[in-house]
Amino acid sequence: MDAPYAKLEQLGPGIARVLAHNPSAFTYYGTQTYLIGAREVAVIDPGPDLPEHVDALEEAIGGRVVVAIMCTHTHRDHSPASRPLADRTGAPLIGCAALALETVGPRADASFDGDYRPDRILEDAEVLEVDGNLVTTVATPGHTSNHLCFAYEGALFTGDHVMGWSTTVVVPPDGDMAAYMQSLDKLRQRNDSIYYPAHGPPVTNPQQYVRHLIGHRMQREKQILRLIGEKPRPIPDIVTNAYPGLDPRLVPAAGGSVYAHLLDLERRGAVERDGELWTAA
Ligand SMILES: [Zn+2]
Repeated sequence: MDAPYAKLEQLGPGIARVLAHNPSAFTYYGTQTYLIGAREVAVIDPGPDLPEHVDALEEAIGGRVVVAIMCTHTHRDHSPASRPLADRTGAPLIGCAALALETVGPRADASFDGDYRPDRILEDAEVLEVDGNLVTTVATPGHTSNHLCFAYEGALFTGDHVMGWSTTVVVPPDGDMAAYMQSLDKLRQRNDSIYYPAHGPPVTNPQQYVRHLIGHRMQREKQILRLIGEKPRPIPDIVTNAYPGLDPRLVPAAGGSVYAHLLDLERRGAVERDGELWTAA
């Protein structure tokens, strides 16, 4: 694939990017690691622990002081490179909380980086100084319960909360649709001028884009309610009807998102379940 892997791309004053070589149906061309600052830097979403990527990050840092290695969340395509990068630079891991997910049972999730150990956890609205400018934490649970965005000089680094190429996967038990919708609404009330997601191109019309995402999820919810209003249905049947022509690799994720909608609707008393079947309440 012709993409700028392992190359430092300057996007604007004090904002640069290095793309990791981990393309997939979920990551687009791969994870984009951002460097912010000039004389000293912070690294946002160091990415997967691929030697070529960590080498490229070290070269991009070029011996400058790294104030913080910041992870938006702990999916395996975001946080594992934090450890080798911390070893090489001596920088602290400051950002999202670790998640205690089980390795077996209903809360198990192989997509999580269980080895992530932050030195300091940032809370919502907490501020960090990088090269004389402020980075503000915007807590955005939903895609994962520990997801954070980071605001810097009018830009918002959105991780996987808002992506530039696809809608975000929200899969229970850790993913939560009601939290995700609230976190979208939180972004709608902000005035960021550009989003830099971990996957896909920058979003240059953030307000319009977030309103579109909220509308898209509300449409999906209506569609699910309509389908189970016709007759009781299991999740795979809802997916087949709601996502015609879906890439087969994305069927499990779509099933997870439908489940996330159903759990949210169940909490609101709009649907009920009987074994595998979901019905309108
Ligand atoms: Zn993720």
